[in-house]
Amino acid sequence: MSELKILQKTDALHEGRWWETEPGGRVHCYLCPRHCRIHSGQSGFCFIRVNQGGKLYSLGYGAPAALQVDPIEKKPLNHFLPGSRVFSMGTAGCNMGCFFCQNWDISKSRQDQVHAQQVAPEDVPLLALQRGCDSLAFTYNEPTIWGEYVIDICEAAKEYGLKTVMVSNGYITYEAFHDIYDHIDAANIDLKAFTEGFYGKITLTHLQPVLETLGWLKKETNVWFEITNLMIPTLNDDPAETRKLSEWILTHLGPDVPLHFTAFHPDFKLQDKPRTPPETLHRARAIALETGLHYVYEGNIFSDGAHTSCPKCGELLIRRSWHDVLENRLEQGACPKCSLVIPGVWEKPKALSRRTKETATIGNYEHLNL
Ligand code: SF4
Repeated sequence: MSELKILQKTDALHEGRWWETEPGGRVHCYLCPRHCRIHSGQSGFCFIRVNQGGKLYSLGYGAPAALQVDPIEKKPLNHFLPGSRVFSMGTAGCNMGCFFCQNWDISKSRQDQVHAQQVAPEDVPLLALQRGCDSLAFTYNEPTIWGEYVIDICEAAKEYGLKTVMVSNGYITYEAFHDIYDHIDAANIDLKAFTEGFYGKITLTHLQPVLETLGWLKKETNVWFEITNLMIPTLNDDPAETRKLSEWILTHLGPDVPLHFTAFHPDFKLQDKPRTPPETLHRARAIALETGLHYVYEGNIFSDGAHTSCPKCGELLIRRSWHDVLENRLEQGACPKCSLVIPGVWEKPKALSRRTKETATIGNYEHLNL
């Protein structure tokens, strides 16, 4: 029998990976392209990787600040186990500095400023199964920065046949990329804009490393991935930029990578911009389809642009309302009219025997307030 374990406070300091020592007691973290050089007693840009006595520790390990069951469509993933529930979790901090962050209460906080729960990695799959989920998502803040915890959770999840999902800004180095993504089944990567100017001024990072991550995902992994572009009025909604972004995806990733245009609402440091008008998303979707992408969606609004249609015969395949799946007409992953195989992961994971046995014996974990 597997008992849910509560980590003791003394266990909370977990030594990180992807770092090296430098002269004077500094450490160099090479988990993301920021390459922080961190003095003893200080943290990196992301707040949750700290140098204590010349070693790098991950404060997010075993300490999620947000736990929730979501529809998989909320990640958003439209071609991955549609209609299923995903056990979603995040910690504190972030390696980007987006002015428009919609989860800024945790992403712009230090670990000691959030209400973190102590959950050992091997307990996460049990909690997910107890709540009827088919997958786990690392989301809400940037999961790359707590990659050690992600990897250990994924290893535990595989024993139960649970799938794993990264919802990420794609800001990761090649040195760490395979260590994390080789454990992952699906991802949604934010492509926040298609100009270095936007990335530099509004996210305090760079576009090029994100494009490289998308290329690695396509060429070097079997991860199912989709892309999200949050459209912010006047900052990244220029039709010419949308066309360039779509053409880049078509050329480098192919026509079958789903692209989600989603609506912005004023938040954090970007309160002076209005909500994205639905017409902007309709226009962006039309441009991307015209460019040659097969699966283009609109999100954060009620729209027919949430449905999946067959790119060959036009048949409506999956009908959605916001994050709800109203109808799924796919037959073994193919169009029922013209038999075109629709790319994605449509089959639910097989329940391993261990799953039934152990979830039947775990106790409740009511204090997590899920
Ligand atoms: S993961 Fe954090 S500490 Fe490491 S380089 Fe990126 S921002 Fe800096």
